[in-house]
Amino acid sequence: MNITKFAPSIYKKSIFDINYKLLKEKGIKCLIFDFDNTISSVYKKDTPIKNLKLLETLKKDFRIIIVSNNFKRKIKPICDKINIDFISFALKPLSCSFKRVLKKYNLSKNEICIIGDQLMSDILGGNLFGSMTILIDPLSAKDLKVTKLNRFIENKIINKLEKNNILKRGKYYE
Ligand SMILES: [Mg+2]
Repeated sequence: MNITKFAPSIYKKSIFDINYKLLKEKGIKCLIFDFDNTISSVYKKDTPIKNLKLLETLKKDFRIIIVSNNFKRKIKPICDKINIDFISFALKPLSCSFKRVLKKYNLSKNEICIIGDQLMSDILGGNLFGSMTILIDPLSAKDLKVTKLNRFIENKIINKLEKNNILKRGKYYE
């Protein structure tokens, strides 16, 4: 596979560093957020209130949807708190969930932006689907057990991306 399929459109430190105004200007109507280590900390097993507040604020300008490979029982209570839609057990990097979002909300590929902390699921999935992707650094150093193999492979991919001057950890761009 072409290594550039793992390169995000934009790379930022966290969801707070993303220029949402710019996304709006680029015609993005829907933000698809990953859950674990993007808005919720795997290490602390909690979702910081400030993260939920940000999502609530963003609801004014975008449709906000959580698309997670995790289970419904983990995702639903958080999404219900701020009344946002979600897809659990999403099987990223497969595109089935992204297709569901387009169909349900009558959106096109270039109107959604996929935001997450993992190259192997969020970024690869979004890129293969043909949508804008934003990589952020994981909220905590700890990962879910199922993520550990992905991270192992991810580190190898990052090394390759670094060698080709495509992506470097901590060197943010947009
Ligand atoms: Mg994640």
